[in-house]
Amino acid sequence: MISRAGGPGPRAHRGKHAFLRDLAYARQLADAAWREEGTQWVGEWHTHPSGDLIPSELDLRSYLRHLHDAELRLDRFVAVIVGLTPEAGVTAATWLIERKHFRLVPLAVTTRPPSD
Ligand SMILES: [Zn+2]
Repeated sequence: MISRAGGPGPRAHRGKHAFLRDLAYARQLADAAWREEGTQWVGEWHTHPSGDLIPSELDLRSYLRHLHDAELRLDRFVAVIVGLTPEAGVTAATWLIERKHFRLVPLAVTTRPPSD
């Protein structure tokens, strides 16, 4: 179960085909989730303004870097891609990334207001 999803953070760099997270902000979110719920960081989400919900080559390279980062100790990486287009509105797909392959996984989404 995914219980939290954070925003990009105030010092993130966002471009049409690139994103550089605000690492200090991301670490703060992960630390708070661990402290308050005992949950761990398992992946990330981002938007595709084109509405395409398939991870790009750049996305996959980034996910594989996380999987090969020994410090993170991740066997799998969860990637949620959210499409935003005027025609389709908000759509989303969840991917499970492993070192040798990746696949689409069904994910039931329920939303609740932020707790703070
Ligand atoms: Zn992407």
